[in-house]
Amino acid sequence: MNWDTRLIHEGQTPDPLTGSVNPPVYLTSTYAQSAPGRAKGFVYSRTGNPTRAVLERVLGKLEGGAGGLAFASGLAAASALFMAYPSGARIVAGDDLYAGTRRLLDVAETHGVRVDLIDTSDLANVRRALADGPAVDLLYLETPTNPLLKVTDLKGAIAIARKSKARVAVDNTFASPVLQRPLELGADIVLHSTTKYLGGHSDLIGGALVCRDRRQLERFRWYQNTQGGILGPLESFLVLRGIHTLGLRVRAHCQNARKVAAFLARHPKVVRTLYPGLPDHPGYRVARRQMDDFGGMVSAEIRGGLPAARRVLRRLKLFTLAESLGGVESLVNHPALMTHRSVPAPVREAQGITGGLLRFSVGVEAADDLVADLEHALG
Ligand SMILES: *Cc1c(COP(=O)(O)O)cnc(C)c1O
Repeated sequence: MNWDTRLIHEGQTPDPLTGSVNPPVYLTSTYAQSAPGRAKGFVYSRTGNPTRAVLERVLGKLEGGAGGLAFASGLAAASALFMAYPSGARIVAGDDLYAGTRRLLDVAETHGVRVDLIDTSDLANVRRALADGPAVDLLYLETPTNPLLKVTDLKGAIAIARKSKARVAVDNTFASPVLQRPLELGADIVLHSTTKYLGGHSDLIGGALVCRDRRQLERFRWYQNTQGGILGPLESFLVLRGIHTLGLRVRAHCQNARKVAAFLARHPKVVRTLYPGLPDHPGYRVARRQMDDFGGMVSAEIRGGLPAARRVLRRLKLFTLAESLGGVESLVNHPALMTHRSVPAPVREAQGITGGLLRFSVGVEAADDLVADLEHALG
């Protein structure tokens, strides 16, 4: 079945009770039991809620896993994931991560987990990290990365992890399952911030884990219930509603981002444009192989550093200056001063998160209007 059909039908049938084509929003904390321990499938909404259950089923199917789990945020999903690793465990992760994930790994370190951050876009680093030192329990990958749009060869990295029996989790937020399916490439776990493309309308905070095998899914279901960071029924409904148009939206995001990236790459006031769909991007070939398109995120370094970047931000009208990404409206973010402020400045600078760097979440407005807005702001 085609994606546009799957997004609307897979795992979703009219409500058996009323025929409602959308799942009812079950705003309830608890469920009546006919006798102690005898319930109709749900006992308490932290443990399970029928609206959330529909979303979890759909997420599992879209990523090709045994099932999904919906959390209160992307970071709540990540914290349930990292919670599974006890003191003494070792996690290797990419060094260009969503800054909140990096903070969470700092917390894991204070609990005795060893964390090594490496540039996973170069497989030699992955090979070295897994060969040296104590056994690695989890390889945590984000691709494309935030905000530098680095691409990791998932198949290659997963093959290396397999040899040393490390599990692999992939943050698939930037690509969405429409463009990239890590479980098909051999990963064990997929993480999403459903706040972004899956929700798609900047109107909710949510996260998800999808597991390849059922035993692992049940283990994380236990952590979800124990940690308690579950997605509420209304947000579950909104993510499901967003998923219906995910294919349409992602196509429009990709088309627009391609035009925005091509415009920025030619502009004299732009030092470098980071978009995996540009043939001179170091991850272009890998992205072409493992993604169905290149996504809606574009970063660019403005000539003249911070003052020049600030001027562009003041002059932009359609790109709203805000954190987050993946919604229908275009947003621009200054990573060094906003999303990645918590990364120590020397680390940031060394990685290329400079004062001149801007990250664009290209929305689904008309591409010509977006390019005209950028042309005016850079002019
Ligand atoms: C936003 C984001 C997260 C965190 O998700 P929240 O929903 O904000 O908690 C994790 N990874 C990536 C790539 C993100 O963009």
